[in-house]
Amino acid sequence: TLAGRTALITGSTSGIGLGIATMLAAAGARVMLNGFGSAEDIANARRAVAKAGNGPEPEHSPADLSDPAQLRAMCAEAEKVLGQVDILVNNAGIQFTSPVEDFPDDKWNAIIAINLSANFHTIKALLPGMKARGWGRIVNIASIHGLVASPEKVAYVAAKHGVVGMTKTVALEIARGGVTCNAICPGFVRTPLAEKQVGALAEKNGISEEAALNDHLFAKQPSKRWVEVEEVARMALYVCGPDSGSINGAALSIDGGWSAA
Ligand code: NAD
Repeated sequence: TLAGRTALITGSTSGIGLGIATMLAAAGARVMLNGFGSAEDIANARRAVAKAGNGPEPEHSPADLSDPAQLRAMCAEAEKVLGQVDILVNNAGIQFTSPVEDFPDDKWNAIIAINLSANFHTIKALLPGMKARGWGRIVNIASIHGLVASPEKVAYVAAKHGVVGMTKTVALEIARGGVTCNAICPGFVRTPLAEKQVGALAEKNGISEEAALNDHLFAKQPSKRWVEVEEVARMALYVCGPDSGSINGAALSIDGGWSAA
C-alpha cells in the first residue's frame, strides 16, 4: 500500500492521469492533481479522488506545463501542500497529427514542451527531495510511440522516444538509491485523447467510427481492443509500490501486443 506516501500526478483531470490519481489515492497516497478542464471537470476529478481515497478533496494546480516557470511553481506548491513529494507521475500529454512537411511549428513546439520538456523540469525540481529522503518513484507515461513510430505523428513520436531516453538516463543516475524512474508505454487507451483520433480518422476517410477503430487503430493493436485506463493505473500502482525497487529504467509496454509485432 501507499499509506503515508504523497504523489503529484500531472494531467490528472482526465483520462489516464485521473485513473492513476484515483488508484494511488485508493491505495492510501495523498495526491495533488494538475490539468485543464472546466470548473465542473476539475470538481468532479477532485471528488472522485477524494471518494477513492476516503479522504479530503485533493489540491489541484492549474499550472500550464508548457511554461517552465509555472511548472516549477507547481512543484514547489506540491512540496508545500503535501509536505514532500514521494511519487511523481509525469502524465500530461497532447497529440497532433500531420505529415511532417505540413506540421505546424507551434504544434511541434507545444508537443515537445508538454510531452517531453515538462518531464525534465518536474524531475529536476522533485528528484533532490526524493534522493535526500532515500525513497522515490518517478513514472513517466510515455507511449508505445516511445518505442515504435507511426506516420503523421512526428512531434509525438519524437517527444515520446525522448521520454524513454530521459527515463533511462535518470534511472542510471539514481540506480544505487531508493528512487526509481520508469516509463509506461501504453497502446491505444480508451480516453478522450484517443477517442478524438477515432472521430478524426472517420471524418478524414469518410468511414464510420467503427470502421476507423477496427481498420486503423486496432490494425496496430493485436488484441483488437482498447487498453483500459484502469489497466494502466494498476501498472503505475505496482511501479509506485514497495515491491518494485528493482524495476528501474524500464519502458514497460502495455499495448495488447503492438510492440511484439
Ligand atoms: P487526456 O486528453 O484524457 O488527458 C490529458 C491530461 O493532460 C488532461 O488532464 C489535460 O488537462 C492535461 N494537459 C494537457 N495539456 C496540458 C498542459 N499544457 N498543462 C497541464 N496539463 C495539461 O489524455 P490521455 O489519453 O489520458 O493521455 C495521458 C498521457 O498518456 C499522455 O501523455 C498521452 O500521450 C499518453 N498516452 C495516451 C494513450 C492513449 O491511447 N490514450 C496511449 C499512449 C500514451
